[in-house]
Amino acid sequence: MIQTEQIFKSFGPLTVLKGIDLSIKPGEIVSIVGPSGAGKTTLLQIIGTLDSPDSGKLTINGVETSKLKEKELAAFRNRNIGFVFQFHQLLPEFTALENVMIPALIGKVKAGDAEKKAKEMLDFLKLSDRMTHKPAELSGGEKQRVAVARALINHPSVILADEPSGSLDSHNKEELHQLFFELRKEFNQTFVIVTHDEQLAANTDRVIHLIDGVIQH
Ligand code: ADP
Repeated sequence: MIQTEQIFKSFGPLTVLKGIDLSIKPGEIVSIVGPSGAGKTTLLQIIGTLDSPDSGKLTINGVETSKLKEKELAAFRNRNIGFVFQFHQLLPEFTALENVMIPALIGKVKAGDAEKKAKEMLDFLKLSDRMTHKPAELSGGEKQRVAVARALINHPSVILADEPSGSLDSHNKEELHQLFFELRKEFNQTFVIVTHDEQLAANTDRVIHLIDGVIQH
């Protein structure tokens, strides 16, 4: 589903990724661990097509992403990739329901259909009684579940999560981790998770150790 071949990335004189070869199967839950500054976030941004490599190839669902024009890439990203960040990044002026609907609306789903899908997703994540709340009125764990619902709304091929439980207490952390596995069971959802959390990493199907821009084997 996701393949990278010899991805290199530098920022000025600093080479952050030094030839990354990766292959991720549908339904796999993969974690990326490694010391701070190892290049984990940079790699996730590149897999998410939010940043482009200096050289190397990224293929998602058989599409070589470098071949897409800017507009095509934005549409491809919206349809195929869901993002969950450490800080939920929900839009504060919108309700939970509206936040979840946004990627569907960007994907040109009709408002009524987007609302129906968003409600189903929030329902699945046990947030039906929080739909009309704005982010400031939700707990940390609820906000992160809304962010997961938003990431899921277009049934993306993969969800990329950067320290998703980094700002949660241990109870909410546990719930979020369980949710990832439930989503895999329900939708065969694929996840790539950057984490410092040894316990989460140890529970995933595969742990990728990134040190100084190189995958350790
Ligand atoms: P990690 O997620 O493993 O902590 P990052 O991918 O965030 O590592 O960063 C790897 C290195 O690249 C760090 O030294 C960081 O300072 C640098 N870096 C990341 N993004 C940029 C950028 N946009 N401009 C310059 N340097 C960057």
